[in-house]
Amino acid sequence: MKIMRLFIILVCALTTFAQADYVEIVKNAHIYANPDRKSKKIQSIEIENSTDLYFLLALSEQTKGYYLIRNPATNMKGWIYKSNIRLHKGDLPGDNQVIPDAAIRPLRDNEMRAHIINVGQGSATLLEFSCGSVLIDTGGEKNADFDSNIKLSDYVNSFYSNRRDLENTLDLFILSHPHIDHTRGAKWIQENENIQVLNYVDNGQDVGSGGKQQVNWQKYSKASGSINYEAVTLDMIGNDGFTDGVVDPINCESGVDPVIKVLWGKLDNDPGWGNERGTARFENPNNHSVAVKVEFGDVSLLLIGDMEHSAIQSMVEKYHGTNLLDVDIYFVGHHGSKNGTSDELMQAMTPRIAVISSGDPSRETVWTAWKYGHPNKIAIDMLRDPEFGVSDTRTPIEVPIGTRAESFQLETIDSAIYNTGWDGNIILQINSNGRIVPIKQH
Ligand SMILES: [Zn+2]
Repeated sequence: MKIMRLFIILVCALTTFAQADYVEIVKNAHIYANPDRKSKKIQSIEIENSTDLYFLLALSEQTKGYYLIRNPATNMKGWIYKSNIRLHKGDLPGDNQVIPDAAIRPLRDNEMRAHIINVGQGSATLLEFSCGSVLIDTGGEKNADFDSNIKLSDYVNSFYSNRRDLENTLDLFILSHPHIDHTRGAKWIQENENIQVLNYVDNGQDVGSGGKQQVNWQKYSKASGSINYEAVTLDMIGNDGFTDGVVDPINCESGVDPVIKVLWGKLDNDPGWGNERGTARFENPNNHSVAVKVEFGDVSLLLIGDMEHSAIQSMVEKYHGTNLLDVDIYFVGHHGSKNGTSDELMQAMTPRIAVISSGDPSRETVWTAWKYGHPNKIAIDMLRDPEFGVSDTRTPIEVPIGTRAESFQLETIDSAIYNTGWDGNIILQINSNGRIVPIKQH
């Protein structure tokens, strides 16, 4: 009888065990050379300072409540006691740079993630918090080789299936400006019965290549009776930015609560920006983009949509003498176009990390990164300027940099500049204490 009971316990233990393909370390813990706390300590893990907490589990070995684990990044092997870990099902990658969805662990209260979804030439950014989510723009590129709506829908569906606690709810949906490379997926969000949007923000415009999609959202949110809509115009925005319950609907009760502000929006009058190729810059929706700032503990993020040089200069002047533009993570304006970043903006931001959303220039057709020469060398050089460029570094990568339309040269980037066109989907894992870990995810 005793042997039988032991056998059942063993079978149950093995069954549970076999379902877990990797472990998450959930408490400060030591990793030992042997399944014994008196054996040599190989490594001490401090949870606050560690983000690469997933370790492959050697399924065959478990003894006396200790699991043998292996760090795929360092190949370190050792034993950890069961109370320090949580078991997960799913594949873990062979190195710590490319991480599949399933291995992205649950957020802690003091963490957020920025998901820069690879929508090709376009933009779509999902901000994930412990208690909510925000989507800014919906991409993206569409041609024979690429469909941003498939990329967006796959990513968003998979995101909510991993974060069931969010119950398919987008607390805030923002369209930065009505151009199709930002609004193409807006209809999908609207028609997807699984996604519930609580608040919708845009710049109130109804013109442009994505005007129809934006107007549809204005009508849809007004008619819904359940979605709060706000059109942000510059005259609403004071010297401290603009926020209210629609722009910042996220209130995390435990842990760190993000502060969301809008720093730019639609202008009613031309501030004297002049013309470009015979068209008033004021007529260009790019210059009326909703610019969003997020403060999360010690970390701040700035997304400026497709603002071009004239609007950027006006924004820098508006916040001169404040620290509102002094951010850690810069979501590079206008897909890395030479007019989407300025030296003055870089000086005001002094960012650590820059993220570009542009397409893969190997797709040589219209409306692509190849066609525009994005990201452009002039912008890249500003981003990696020794004095005012990003201060963090990345593993060097040789990538095509646009010198002009349809023309690229290969350069090695070792500053912390990431680009969906080079890296695929990008996740920034952000701890409110200031730690930022970029995770590439194809
Ligand atoms: Zn754009």
